[in-house]
Amino acid sequence: MVIKGIIVSSGYSFGSAFVLNEKKVDLNFNKITFDKVDDEIKLFVKSHIKTINQLKKIRLKIKKQNKDKKLLFDGYIMLLEDNNLKEDIINLIKNELMYADNATNIIIKKHINDIKKIDNIYLQDRVIDILDIGKRLIYNIKNLDFIDFNFSNIKDKIIIVTKDLLPSQIIQFNLKKIVGFITELGSLTSHTSIIAKSLNLPAIIGVKNITNIIFNNDYLILDAVDNKIYINPCKNIFNTLKNKYNSFLFKRKQLIKLKNLPAITTDGHEIKLFANIANDKDIKFLIKNNIKGVGLYRTEFLFMDRKSLPSEEEQFLSYKKIAKLMKNFPVTIRTVDLGGDKFLPYMKFPKEDVSCLGWRAIRICMDRKDILYSQLRAILRASVYGKLRIMFPMIISMEEIFFLKNEIQKLKLQLLEEKHDFDDNIKIGAMIETPAAAIISKYLSEELDFFSIGTNDLTQYTLAVDRNNSMISHLYEPLSPSVIHLIKYVIDSVNPDVKSLSICGELASDERAIILLLGLGIKELSMNINNIPKVKQIICNNSLSFAKKLSTDVLSKCTVNDVLSILIKDK
Ligand code: PEP
Ligand code: MG
Repeated sequence: MVIKGIIVSSGYSFGSAFVLNEKKVDLNFNKITFDKVDDEIKLFVKSHIKTINQLKKIRLKIKKQNKDKKLLFDGYIMLLEDNNLKEDIINLIKNELMYADNATNIIIKKHINDIKKIDNIYLQDRVIDILDIGKRLIYNIKNLDFIDFNFSNIKDKIIIVTKDLLPSQIIQFNLKKIVGFITELGSLTSHTSIIAKSLNLPAIIGVKNITNIIFNNDYLILDAVDNKIYINPCKNIFNTLKNKYNSFLFKRKQLIKLKNLPAITTDGHEIKLFANIANDKDIKFLIKNNIKGVGLYRTEFLFMDRKSLPSEEEQFLSYKKIAKLMKNFPVTIRTVDLGGDKFLPYMKFPKEDVSCLGWRAIRICMDRKDILYSQLRAILRASVYGKLRIMFPMIISMEEIFFLKNEIQKLKLQLLEEKHDFDDNIKIGAMIETPAAAIISKYLSEELDFFSIGTNDLTQYTLAVDRNNSMISHLYEPLSPSVIHLIKYVIDSVNPDVKSLSICGELASDERAIILLLGLGIKELSMNINNIPKVKQIICNNSLSFAKKLSTDVLSKCTVNDVLSILIKDK
């Protein structure tokens, strides 16, 4: 039997099914009598402390393995220690005469519903974190054991099959025994999926009813490359999949071997490959993998998973750390790109009908000078430690650039007065991710030092297709002739021989697009670190002269289908 779902982390795994059916917890919906209130509050407080201690224990255990995972637990503990949550539950027990388990369940659900009302993908993914905390609290109130994965008795390799996995559960997986997982629920951007990817643990989510289809000890093959789950497959299938798996491993190893080679076409043209990062912890990985620059640091992630805006000092320390580690390699710090689909729980955002066209990115920073100034001051102060560059997102006009350059100048004078050092020649650039910026790129290039084409947004705004709306996702095609022509227009206006011009949207690592982009004149690409070897291989196997012919051919086509038929044929 073969079943499909959504791949969140690719690879193959072979093992026995371990079906996790959660214990059913019966909540007590009765009312307590007044004389029981203190007991129930005590029970809650005791469980609350116990939950924090359990989480601290897990945090300590995983701290040595992975600092990123530790951060998630810091977030959990912070949420639990938040007095509002605790007080809300105690108040319900006191005022509504509720049992502690019932009161906890109600407050956790209320938090989740509040979040669900906000139209924001990032926050929706935090629902599972709150659920995780709520479950732990209730299990402790009821004195039940929470499933904290300890598979010490299991000898086989196992594949977890469950309704949903909590981040705090996957973090504890013993990867020698657990080789993959399948869930009924989940989303691509949830913490669970993010952790699965970082662990290289094959995983397929969103498989309806899977816990009723698969039984314990069924033999499973998880093909998280072609998106198939085989249940008790025959020997032939097993052998075929083993061969696929071996060639997958071989390919991965071959790609890793490329890490010390530059990306040079067969006719000798070098393409610079940089990394997109979301935090300063990725830097060590970059250095280990010989990646010579950051093309995009999405700093908004520095503002998330916390209770208030990061101070200038906190930002300074993060930027300084990156600058020092990357030494003379360029690090492009994009000023915070909030709004659209990225919100902060501690900051008020207006309710907008079309948030991607609203109060977003540089527009927020131009209104909220406190945010702009603290970030620019932090970058400037850190700039003496390496080769930092400032990049502005969502630019649509020259007025914005004049304003921002003037602000930087003012801040430099301020820093001089305060006797802070900074790199006076720090490079200033912009994302080209709106059609407006693309059309005025010639003027922009007279004022700025470098550019990066954000094809994710450029596609969204050129085609007027919301990149987060699944109803119209079939219309979202960065390889549409209109987007390709706009990219070509920017390349001609900016001239990559004169000014640094990269691509940092997902198109930069789209296998169909690499040769085309080179042929159009792109010399720098920035992408998710894991995609660099694959892109490097494509570059090393092709010539620029072929790429130019291909791009001329593509530019002569007026439909997506015609473009794709060239790119897929020649891939
Ligand atoms: C882009 O729009 O292509 C881009 C790189 O920025 P983000 O995906 O962060 O909006
Ligand atoms: Mg963008």
